[in-house]
Order: sequence, then C-alpha cells, then structure tokens
Amino acid sequence: MKRVWLIVLTALIWLTGYAQKWDEYPDYDTYISFMQNIAQQNEDICRLDTIGTSINGRLILCMSITSQIKADLPKPRFFYSAAMHGNELTGAVMLMRLIDTLTANKEEFAALLDNIQIYINPFANPDGTWNNSTDGKIKNPVRYNANYVDLNRNYKDIATKNNSDGKKTQPETQAFMDYQLQHRFHMSCNLHTGSEVFNYPFDKYTSSVKTHADRQWFEDLGKDFVAALQDESGTYFKSVNSSGVIDGGDWYVIGGSRQDWSTYYAHCPEVTLELSDDYIPQADKLPLYWVRLHKSLFVFFDYLQQGFKGTVTDSVTGKQLDGVKIEISDHDRDSSQVYTDSQGFYNRCIKQGTYSVKFSKDGYNDKVEEIAMTGGTETVNIELVPKNVSIDLAKHMQAEIYPVPAENYIKIKCDKEARFAIADIKAAERTDGVLHGGENTVDISTLDAGVYTVMIYSKDGTLITKKIIKR
Ligand SMILES: [Zn+2]
Repeated sequence: MKRVWLIVLTALIWLTGYAQKWDEYPDYDTYISFMQNIAQQNEDICRLDTIGTSINGRLILCMSITSQIKADLPKPRFFYSAAMHGNELTGAVMLMRLIDTLTANKEEFAALLDNIQIYINPFANPDGTWNNSTDGKIKNPVRYNANYVDLNRNYKDIATKNNSDGKKTQPETQAFMDYQLQHRFHMSCNLHTGSEVFNYPFDKYTSSVKTHADRQWFEDLGKDFVAALQDESGTYFKSVNSSGVIDGGDWYVIGGSRQDWSTYYAHCPEVTLELSDDYIPQADKLPLYWVRLHKSLFVFFDYLQQGFKGTVTDSVTGKQLDGVKIEISDHDRDSSQVYTDSQGFYNRCIKQGTYSVKFSKDGYNDKVEEIAMTGGTETVNIELVPKNVSIDLAKHMQAEIYPVPAENYIKIKCDKEARFAIADIKAAERTDGVLHGGENTVDISTLDAGVYTVMIYSKDGTLITKKIIKR
C-alpha cells in the first residue's frame, strides 16, 4: 500500500490547484488568503483552525485535512509544523505546497484521507517570520518570537520539569501545547533549516545516557525518509552524518525542545527535520526542495498507519473511556506509553513484533492483550470491566459455574442475558464474552493452569464473581 502514494505523487508533482507561486516566500496576507481559500473551497475535507495568536496579533493557523471532516471520526492524527524559528522558512513553503497537493488532488488521496487526519501548520512563529514588516513582506525574519525568546527552548524540560530557559512560557508555546493536548496527535514533525538531518528524540540526552523506547522505530522511519528523498546529487541530508539520521542528543543536547515535550508529555512521538543548510534558500530554489522532499513527507503517513489502534469502552455501559493507559510490557519507558482520547480512541505506532499490552484505568480491572504486529494496522477494541459494581445476587441474577476444577471449558448457567470476563490472579483480564440465559460453554483451553476469577455482570450492573481452577 505504501508504494501507491509514491506513484500517485510522481504523477501529481506539478499539479497544483490554487495559483500560488511556489518560487517565492509569501506575504502575510497572501498566506492567510491561501489558507482561507483552500478551506472554503474544500469544506468536505478541510477545517481551518486557529492554534492561537502571536504577541503582535498574527494568526497561527492550522489546516486539518481528512475525509468527512465534519463527522470527527476517530482516526490516527498527524501534525506537521514549520518555522517555529521564524527565519527557517523552507519547511513553511513545503507545507503550504503539501496542503495544496492534498486538496487539489483529493480524489487520488481519498484512501489516505479516509484512514488518517493530517494537521498542517506552515508558520508557527509569524512574529519572527514577519519581524518588522509593515507591508506584509518577509524582510527581516528572526529566529525568536516578539519577546526575543527561542520557542524551541521554551517548553517544559523533560528532566527538570521546568522551563529550563528561565523564561516564562510564551503565548505561542502555550497555544501549541493547548492545541496538541486538545487534539491528541499520534505522531508529529517539526520542520527547521540550518542543516540537513532527520533528528529524533530525545534532544535532552545523549544516547549513552538515555534512549527512547522506540529508538529503532525512529531509526527505521529516518532511513525510509532519507531513502525516499529525490536527490540525484546524493549529497542531500548528508551535512551532519552519512546516514542523515541522528539521535537528537548525539547531535547536540538541548533542553525545552518541542520535540521532547511532544514525545514525553503529550505521548506523541515527534521528529525534527532540518531541511536545508541555508536558513532561507533563494526563493527560486524552493521548487527543487519540493522535488527532493515531497515523497519523503508522505513516509510519515505510512508509519502513522503501522501499529495497533482501537476504541476502549466500559463493558457495562458501553461508554467510550478517556485516559485509558496503554502500556507495552518490557518495552515502554520514559513516558512512551499512549492514552485513549475523549472518543476512547488510541493509536500506538510500533515496529513489527509480538507485544503484551496492558490497558488500565482507575476504577476498572486491567486487561492484558497479546498483539502480534506483522506490518500494517491491527484494530484492537477493548472493553474494560468496572470494579465495585453493586452486588445484589439473590434479587437480580443467579449463576452457576462448573465443573470445578475445569480443563478446556467451563459451563456458565445464568438466568438472564449477561456478560462475563475471566481475570487471572493479578486481576488482569484474559478473556471475555456474552452469555445468554441458560447454559453457556466457555472455552478456556488457552489459559495456563491456575486460579482465575470469573465475573458475570448483567445489563443492570449486577455482578457475580466466582473462582475457578484451570488444570
Ligand atoms: Zn530551528
């Protein structure tokens, strides 16, 4: 599936829809109109959000793109952002062009947009980019925001848990944190210039001190990103090392970066791309950067769709559960676990392999699932059984379980429709299902020998628990 996009893209590379010139840097008004026009002309797939307002009152915009956008369907979500350093402009134009490409060719990208939601913020620091501009032209762009703060050092540090730059949290920083925590992205990428390299977490630590739990996944993503670059000279993305991929802290250690904040505090793995050695390439070189980069920008969307995802609900009420922790045993560390959102939806990007995954939330019994990933997406929907459901056996429901001890199956006889779950002695749920009134046969052949608790709960919340022994 991955290759299909690359072929489609090759055909589409020069097809653009909105008469934007791609060999110039936009004026502020041109940029704003570009975003507004595309949103208006593509209401079925686009929503234009304002992430926030800069200190000098400029808009920080984000285009959200997916099919059936008004339905707000639960999908894996990707966030692209550029030019948080106001004088690093290559990525901003690439992202405008990405918006243009996706919307002008939406039929060709229908399958992609059915599967994922893409958020694109071309200019993250408009006061830095349009610094001292009275006519809307980019004249004296600077790295900093209007308070002369480096926004890529202004996030909460993952080691000190404070702003390690000693500065107040800037309005732009706060707006990005709020927006991200509201939208709960599953992967993100932050575009810079000044070098040419794919930089992954953590920025705060050298790899000899601490590595990310998904380091190999980041390495694989970086290699595939570099491999998809269209560069005949063979020199692009070689200015830091020969692979073009580096662990952030091994390049140089910084505190308070957006990448680390997103990865650690927002549970959203983020990559920093340095796109050009020139901070601001000559405008007539911008089409060349698009040729080099456009396929690689889509590699992230492939990786977003490689992992397991699903919805977690309450087994009694069917309610979608927010804030369920999804943690991979013997793998996750340093905040690499993920959580469900307000729709009960989660998406965990992960390499191929077999994982033991624990789903947990206060007030519910843990559930452990073995998940085998062979590439692509696995959908794993989970029901968590609430603890402390009121018990009033005689009045509401009666159930018998036999034989005890049991071997490959148990019989559960109950007087009305119910659900059951079987938990091991660590209270981790191992299997569950539906019971009809009368005698039901439940297969327990895959369980190890031992003692288990069977929980039977009816629609009105009545709970019966019984111990069984599996031989
Ligand atoms: Zn930068």
